[in-house]
Amino acid sequence: MRAARWYQAGDVRVEEVPALGPPPVGMVDVAVARCGICGTDVGEFRNGPFLIRNGTHPLTGQGPPVTLGHEFSGQVTACGEGVATEPGTRVTADACWRCGQCPACQRGDYHLCRFGGSIGLASDGAFAPMVRVPAYTLVPLPDNVDDAKAALTEPLAVGLHALDRGRTAAGDQVLILGFGAIGAAAALVAVAIGARPIVVEVLPARRVLAQRLGLEVLEGGDELPRRLRRLTGRLGVDVVLECTGVGALVGEAVSCADRGGRIVLIGMGTKTASIDPSALTLYERSLAGSLGYRHDLPRVVALMSAGSLDPTPLIGETIGLDDVPETMRRLATDPGGLIKVLVDPS
Ligand SMILES: [Zn+2]
Ligand SMILES: [Zn+2]
Repeated sequence: MRAARWYQAGDVRVEEVPALGPPPVGMVDVAVARCGICGTDVGEFRNGPFLIRNGTHPLTGQGPPVTLGHEFSGQVTACGEGVATEPGTRVTADACWRCGQCPACQRGDYHLCRFGGSIGLASDGAFAPMVRVPAYTLVPLPDNVDDAKAALTEPLAVGLHALDRGRTAAGDQVLILGFGAIGAAAALVAVAIGARPIVVEVLPARRVLAQRLGLEVLEGGDELPRRLRRLTGRLGVDVVLECTGVGALVGEAVSCADRGGRIVLIGMGTKTASIDPSALTLYERSLAGSLGYRHDLPRVVALMSAGSLDPTPLIGETIGLDDVPETMRRLATDPGGLIKVLVDPS
């Protein structure tokens, strides 16, 4: 079969790889229907390896080159021994490999596993017609969640987890810095759980999309905390989600939170940022990090199935496997208003 594989920064190739053969114990083969290109994939293309390991991964035994793709939907075709799922089941997957033994895994925080890794980074992913994954990653899909929507379950789960890290409740005002894939996912999930998102984005094309989705939108730039105080009539919002990974925005994110407000950092990429500690202590604001998700995908699927959450407007293009390298190059240099590109590997 053909697959889009990461060799090194700037080098993703579509090439022939061996067919899978029967799955081993605990593993499942899935025929891929759709797979989203993630900001993580683009990051690995731009200047990886970042989450891809240079050597062999301790849980998967695999190192580069690796087939990318972890945001997928599809249908189970074959199951290894000890797997309860039936072939034919439509699924998406929680991308986290986990050891199941370390302290984080034991308390349910498998996304913080000391050996953790992601499908499509630590093992071959779903930019291919077939993907092999651990059975514990599978999340079954109801009939009314189509393949395209289902492929967005994973990034939506990142948004849901970040909202949880900010202890977001219905009615809360949530400021979302950056309307890329994760900011957009967080905004849609915030609406679905009854919170009130306000999106801040510098790119006009992305602001237009956010507005078209009925979201409240502010321009980025100078004096955001002051503009926000005028808008809210208080010191700031209940929850701030920093989704850009721009270091200079961390201090600003803190200043945008209300008394007792929560600031959650999701964006990655920057190495340094400075904050005024008294901006936390004087108003008893809390600053938290958010990494991926844990146990969140079934909740996202339930919200989509109930009709509370529809990520379809975030899908800008659906491409074939052969277009993956060129599209990654475009996303790495000038994404414009493009939020999510799906790959149809068939
Ligand atoms: Zn992703
Ligand atoms: Zn573990």
